[in-house]
Amino acid sequence: MQEVKFQDAAYRNPFKMAQEQCDNCAEFLNLDPGIHAIIREPMREIHVSIPVRMDNGTVKVFKGFRVIHNNALGPAKGGIRFHPEENIDTVKALATWMTWKCALLNLPLGGGKGGVICNPKELSKGELERLSRGYIAQLWQFIGPDTDIPAPDVYTNPQIMAWMMDEYSKIKGKNQFGVITGKPPVLGGSAGRGDATARGGMYTLREAAKVRGLDLSKATMAVQGYGNAGYYAALLAGKLFNTRIVAISDSSGAIYNPEGLDAQRVFEHKSSTGSVAGFSGAERISQDELLELKVDVLCPSALENSINVKNAHNIKASIIVELSNGPTTPEADDILFANDVHVIPDLLCNAGGVTVSYFEMVQNTSMLYWEEEEVYRRLDKKITAAYHEVLKTSFKYKINMRQAAYIVAVKRVEEAIKLRGWV
Ligand code: GLU
Repeated sequence: MQEVKFQDAAYRNPFKMAQEQCDNCAEFLNLDPGIHAIIREPMREIHVSIPVRMDNGTVKVFKGFRVIHNNALGPAKGGIRFHPEENIDTVKALATWMTWKCALLNLPLGGGKGGVICNPKELSKGELERLSRGYIAQLWQFIGPDTDIPAPDVYTNPQIMAWMMDEYSKIKGKNQFGVITGKPPVLGGSAGRGDATARGGMYTLREAAKVRGLDLSKATMAVQGYGNAGYYAALLAGKLFNTRIVAISDSSGAIYNPEGLDAQRVFEHKSSTGSVAGFSGAERISQDELLELKVDVLCPSALENSINVKNAHNIKASIIVELSNGPTTPEADDILFANDVHVIPDLLCNAGGVTVSYFEMVQNTSMLYWEEEEVYRRLDKKITAAYHEVLKTSFKYKINMRQAAYIVAVKRVEEAIKLRGWV
């Protein structure tokens, strides 16, 4: 993950950004003021302190959060991030974006998000397990298969989901696979969940390339961030389209080779050394340079605020595949739109993760598990339909893809709120 520069003037508070996007949409739709007021704020915000016995015998207290932004369309859904710079405003923004993401994909789910301020890279496996279980011990009353269903996000993974599911099941006195998604397959996880975020993004890229007349087999791509989303994006772009990955970055550095990088070998290098930097056969560049490379496709897969007022003018990619949440600030959006860059916005582009999470919930309830191909087929159908609905809306109103995605999503939530009689 590329580090966020909090002191940087171009940095935008993510929740303010989410509210601004919401306000613009409300104005465009001439939204009922009551509905606008409801969707600007999360419905519930919980702060917890989690005591964890460290390996050296001392007790350390970690701060954690869980936010439900809106549950008009169904139980809240959204991941849990473990990050040293986690903060409540980011979690509130991410919960808000989950509401729009689920609505856009037509899932019967609302939006939520959680986070813990910690650095998992500095925790032992035992400490990480006790922290994960501690998070659930503090929050179990507020989550559940039909209230709020967490999932993995930045620096959390299927093992952490397994511990959390187990902790919740112990408290409840029965197996509760449906409380969390992104679990390992042997514990009720769905086939295809591992690479679902990137795969969904690749399906939207395929559609965008058609619209742009870009031949992906001759295209180049730069990937910012080499966690779950970035790694699988690099791998799948090669496998599905034969696209050449020329640059990859992570929180420690960036590498560049115009002849192409082997995504799997870079991953192995990162797994053994902790970073993509130092990969043989590639030139070292800065993380900022990666974003401004002359490539056809740019794939931000790190944290918020990567593309901002400072660098948006220098972006040369023709398509941006937003696999991370909130990578582009509203100011940058305007610049990119004016420069005719086709942005596939985060709430559409990275919705593959939550879509397959929803499939996981369905499979947990029915106890009938699908083949990988079935998951891919259903994901493709849903995300491709959403892409074209957003594209059509953007053409219709001559607005950018993010504004169009907001319109589709907000209208669905608006309808649910009205029918429920909340306003
Ligand atoms: N954390 C992912 C996201 O931001 C997935 C959420 C989920 O599966 O519930 O969309």
